[in-house]
Amino acid sequence: MTHRQHQEAADQTTPAQQGVQADARPNARKVFMRTYGCQMNVYDSERMNDVLGTEGFSATDSMEDADLVILNTCHIREKASEKVYSELGRIRKIKEERALAGKDMMVGVAGCVAQAEGDEISRRAPVVDLVFGPQSYHRLPELLAKASGGAKVVETEFDIDAKFEHLSERAARPVLKRPPAAFLTVQEGCDKFCTFCVVPYTRGAEVSRSVEQIVTEAKQMAASGVREITLLGQNVNAWHGLGANGETWGLGRLLRRLAEIDGLDRLRYTTSHPRDMADDLIEAHRDLAELMPYLHLPVQSGSDRILAAMNRKHTRDEYFRLVDRIREAAPDIALSCDFIVGFPGETDQDFQDTMDLIRRVEYGSAFSFKYSQRPGTPGATMSDQVPEDVKSARLLELQELIANQQTAFNASRQGMTCNVLIERKGRHAGQVVGKSPWLQPVAIDGSEDLIGTIQAVEITRIAANSLFGRLIAGHHDLIGSTADGHQGGGI
Ligand code: SF4
Repeated sequence: MTHRQHQEAADQTTPAQQGVQADARPNARKVFMRTYGCQMNVYDSERMNDVLGTEGFSATDSMEDADLVILNTCHIREKASEKVYSELGRIRKIKEERALAGKDMMVGVAGCVAQAEGDEISRRAPVVDLVFGPQSYHRLPELLAKASGGAKVVETEFDIDAKFEHLSERAARPVLKRPPAAFLTVQEGCDKFCTFCVVPYTRGAEVSRSVEQIVTEAKQMAASGVREITLLGQNVNAWHGLGANGETWGLGRLLRRLAEIDGLDRLRYTTSHPRDMADDLIEAHRDLAELMPYLHLPVQSGSDRILAAMNRKHTRDEYFRLVDRIREAAPDIALSCDFIVGFPGETDQDFQDTMDLIRRVEYGSAFSFKYSQRPGTPGATMSDQVPEDVKSARLLELQELIANQQTAFNASRQGMTCNVLIERKGRHAGQVVGKSPWLQPVAIDGSEDLIGTIQAVEITRIAANSLFGRLIAGHHDLIGSTADGHQGGGI
C-alpha cells in the first residue's frame, strides 16, 4: 500500500481528536501528542498514550500545558522533515516560555521521520530531548528517564518483535478510553519493495503479531467500549501469525476468531496487497456478517508495463480476476483503491490503461496522487520522469472519473436502510456522525448519548463525500453481529 491515502484524515490529530480522553487528575504530568500521517501512526499514538498513562501521564490538547510533547511523524509526504523542523521551532519558543515560568518540558520526535533522520534531528533542533523510531515505543518510560537525566536519547533500532511483545504486556493493563471505532496493528513492515515506496526502508521487513496477542488486545478494546476494530498493517493481508499450537494462521481465520468476541460488532482491515488476497480471506467476506463490506485494494496503475516498473508483482488481468472473485463472494462490497499517476516512463497509453481499469472496476472511492520521487527508492533515480504539468493534467482527469464513480456509488445508497455505528458529535448542534457499513460518514439528527451505539438509519440525502440519514429505530442499540449483515439482509 502507499499509506498516503489515509494521511489526509489523520494529519495532525491530537489525543482528544483521536478519542483519547484528557485526564482530569490535577497532579498528573501532561503529555501533548501530535500525530501525522497514516492510521498506523494514530494507533501507535494511542499505544504510546497507554504506556504513558501507566507512568502517570495524562493527555492534554494544549502544548503550552504539556510536560512532554511528542511529535509522531510521517515520512510519506514531500518535505515531511522540513515541516517537523518548523514545528520544532515553534515548540522551542514554548519551551523557553515555560522555562521562564520555572516549568520543564521534554520534547520527543517519534515515527518515520525519527527513524529516517536519527540523531540529525537533535543536532539540527537541540530543543529535542529524545528521538525514537516506531519500534521503540514500549521503551518510552526508560527513554524518558534517560532523557530527564540530561542525555540526548536517540533510539532507532529495528526490533519489531520486542515492540509487539511489550505492547502486548501493556494490553493486559487498563487502556485509556478508545473511540467506538479504533485501530489495532497486527502486522508491520513490508517485503514487497514497490519501487516508489519508502515503507520497506522506514518500517523494515514484515513482522506479524501472534494470534494470542491480537485476540487479547481486541478483547480488551471491546471491554473498553470499542464496537469496531480496523486491523492495520502496511501489508495487512500478508499477516501470518502464530496460533497457540504453533500453526500459522491467515487473516481470514483471524477475522473469524475476532468475530466471536463479545461486543465486537464490526471488523475491517487495511491495507491489502492484491497478491495476498487468499481464498480464506475472500470467503470471510462471504461468511462473516461482522466483516464490513468494504475493501481497500490498491492497484496503483492499470498498465502492465508500469505495474512491472513499479514492481507490483501482478498484472491488470490478475487484478480483474481477483475483483471478480471478491464480488462473487460479496456482491455489495465497496471497493476502494490507490492510484499513482505519472510514474517514470508512464505514457499517454499507460495512463489510458489506468482510466480503462477504473471504468471497468467501478470504485466506491479512491485516493490518487501524482508520483513524487522519494529519496532512497529505485523510482527516484529512474531516468524518464514525467513532467509536472503532464502529471497534473492526468491527475485531474483521473480524479474526475473517480468523483463520478463515488457520487454514483453514494447515490445508490439513497433511500436504503443500513446500520450506522455512531462515533462522534457532528458539526452542528443536535447532530451526530457515524459510519455506514461501506465506510461512508453518515450525519444524523440525534443526541450525543447515541455515540457508541449501532443504529438503523434511512439514508435520506447524498452529498459529495458523505451521507445524511434519519434514525428509524429510535434509540435502540442494535447489538449483535447480525446488526450489520451485508449478505442481502440488513442493509
Ligand atoms: S512497498 Fe509495501 S508498503 Fe510500499 S506500496 Fe508496496 S506493498 Fe505497500
